[in-house]
Amino acid sequence: MARINDHYLKLKAGYLFPEIGRRVSAFGEANASACKDKPIIKLGIGDVTEPLPEAIRIAMHKAVDDMGNRDSFHGYGPEQGYAWLREAIVENDYRSRGCDIAADEVFVSDGSKCDSGNFLDILAAGGGSSGGNTIAVCDPVYPVYVDTNVMVGNTGGANDAGEYAGLVYLPVTAENNFTPPLPEGKVDVIYLCSPNNPTGAVMTKADLAKWVEYAKANDALILYDAAYHAFITENDLPRSIYEIEGARDVAVEFRSFSKNAGFTGTRCAFTVVPKSVTAKSADGSDVDLHRLWNRRQSTKFNGVSYIVQRGAEAAYSEEGKRQIADLIAFYMANARIVLDTVAGLGMQAFGGVNAPYIWLKTPDGLDSWGFFDKLLGECHVVGTPGSGFGAAGEGYFRISAFNSRENVEEAMGRVKASLK
Ligand SMILES: *Cc1c(COP(=O)(O)O)cnc(C)c1O
Repeated sequence: MARINDHYLKLKAGYLFPEIGRRVSAFGEANASACKDKPIIKLGIGDVTEPLPEAIRIAMHKAVDDMGNRDSFHGYGPEQGYAWLREAIVENDYRSRGCDIAADEVFVSDGSKCDSGNFLDILAAGGGSSGGNTIAVCDPVYPVYVDTNVMVGNTGGANDAGEYAGLVYLPVTAENNFTPPLPEGKVDVIYLCSPNNPTGAVMTKADLAKWVEYAKANDALILYDAAYHAFITENDLPRSIYEIEGARDVAVEFRSFSKNAGFTGTRCAFTVVPKSVTAKSADGSDVDLHRLWNRRQSTKFNGVSYIVQRGAEAAYSEEGKRQIADLIAFYMANARIVLDTVAGLGMQAFGGVNAPYIWLKTPDGLDSWGFFDKLLGECHVVGTPGSGFGAAGEGYFRISAFNSRENVEEAMGRVKASLK
């Protein structure tokens, strides 16, 4: 008799984006002619909209031709990624910022979503109460961290607010400036995401230093998601957790080409596992996570396509860097338009300066879904209800800067006219 992983049955069914999709299509059908005159504009899902930079396309075309020649053909590559890409990553993303990271500590992959979920493979499962790990997440949070922990049995069931028993939630709200507070007790694994999805907040060096210190004092592991590092515009903010002294001993960093280089459909990312990060085995000895992650990847993963890795490498060429900087500047100018619009309407807005997300306090005492329905109904504009990212997101709303200038301007023009 085949048995399922029963933990999957604990997952909340009505997941955020399907529910948004359902409401949008129901509205579109019920208001077909109005939506013809005023098409629905989606500033909801966090996907990029602008084409791949030219330098990357040229490199990928060339790589396709390499594959067409016996002499330059590539079969299976190293599971960890090609050395030339790992070198380019280390040189440009780490050494240039004074971070002590070696190329063989970088594991190239096809996405940070899978890496952050897969990383649980090498950690004890079952949750803190059964001798495994007590997990801390921010609230609101990128849902992948929570759901992957549910899947491996690190939690109990969910309550009506969608909070899972056994997880430690760290509320991030306007009251604490969206900076995650240290847990009151001891946790073993902490997920941090900066710049943050969904709040758009960024952690300072001092904020991160507190977490590194906490992790050292409590033998905890930090899983640091820096998917939006390239959107930081303020100079003194850290791009990597390894800019913090001691982070090499306690933190793993996830990075992706999805948001900076427009790779959401092309797929390339990497995870940095310094050789100095350890966790305990059942007999209490320290085991380095680098060795386990290398073993895991070599067994369950066969590397990213040669063509895609050549594209990712081109993100670090002079041309590539320039084109990516333009792309980021484009999205951040969209963010500015959104921020100016909502601030002009007297709404409280956060983020949008070092991240492509604007996080609003919903006006007029509306809850997150109430504001979603109002914005859809009056402006035909779709955003994301904050409550979908966690209980502490209730009363907030996310607007994404990932869209064409035309759509952002049109959407904000409607918002201005309707909500003033
Ligand atoms: C978009 C995003 C990622 C990137 O995921 P990929 O699988 O690399 O596309 C990672 N973390 C967060 C918080 C994100 O929003």
